[in-house]
Amino acid sequence: MPRPNPFRPFRPKPDQMALKPEVSGNAVNGLGEREPRRPRMVYWAPDPDAIPHGAMQRWFYTNDRDNPDILAANVERKAILAEPVPDVAGPPLGREPEAWTAALQDFVEAGTCERVGVAAMQSEWTFEGFDVPERTTIVTGVHHAFEAIAEAPESRAGAEVIRQYGRAAFAAKRIAGWLRQQGWPAEPVTGPMTGSVALIPPALACGFGELGKHGSIINPEFGASFRLSAVLTDAPFAPTPPREFGIDDFCTKCRVCEEACPPEAIAPEKQTVRGETKWYVDFDKCLPFFNETRGCAICIAVCPWSRPGAGLNLADKLERRRNRKAGEDAGHR
Ligand code: SF4
Ligand code: SF4
Repeated sequence: MPRPNPFRPFRPKPDQMALKPEVSGNAVNGLGEREPRRPRMVYWAPDPDAIPHGAMQRWFYTNDRDNPDILAANVERKAILAEPVPDVAGPPLGREPEAWTAALQDFVEAGTCERVGVAAMQSEWTFEGFDVPERTTIVTGVHHAFEAIAEAPESRAGAEVIRQYGRAAFAAKRIAGWLRQQGWPAEPVTGPMTGSVALIPPALACGFGELGKHGSIINPEFGASFRLSAVLTDAPFAPTPPREFGIDDFCTKCRVCEEACPPEAIAPEKQTVRGETKWYVDFDKCLPFFNETRGCAICIAVCPWSRPGAGLNLADKLERRRNRKAGEDAGHR
């Protein structure tokens, strides 16, 4: 028997809903479309006037704006975004692709970020209307402090998200600066307004984990509780492989986020989106609650993989189960 949801029924504020555009965000996202196409920017546009939900995006920033946690996190993030990135200096340094990729671990060891991966750039990861000429995407990940995220949807969780967007931006700028000082042009991509590139697809491709039912990536180390940034470059990095742990299958049997989501935005079954069958969150249902709570994050907080230490234990358990089943199957042959 699921616990009663303290946030249901959710009734969005009329002043926010007055800003809702005629077009559904799910249509912008390509829900139900059977043909593959590049994504369209649905939210977090650098220029809100360029998207149908731009007025709702502006509303987000007017909501709870005097909250001290949010204000402090915004000050931190803005200072990071304002920092210049060094210019490209000298001829490009030559290195073996594996050595370039291995060198990124120094940023993890120094605590600049908690994870890095590398993917060969693909045009289907860029939003319609944008071209990314660089061949390589470096993805960085930073871990939320769980005790702050666990307070979702309170503002302390929203402030932690802003703070980690700041840390992710810092990591991307540091890595871009490091590359430029070795003679390689490099552009940091910082969230949530990433501009040209969607970050989830390259992060999946380079080993950040699997897409969860709640629409965020999950991995055993951080659960779903992390933020991403990226660096675009032509420096010849070796790609890092995708990683699977059985999380996709786990989500078919788990309903924790579905039951916890106040506006019931998390679909119980996979959906067809631009020719791909995948987990999908109803944008139109999620957005009003997300906006009114300055970032919600309930689905990230309640996901069993996000509890500190739990993801590694779950991955271990799933692996042992797979091995046992493989042994049983072999025995029956
Ligand atoms: S972020 Fe959206 S999908 Fe997740 S719990 Fe909140 S409203 Fe639901
Ligand atoms: S709460 Fe459960 S169903 Fe939702 S993403 Fe996490 S593991 Fe998957």
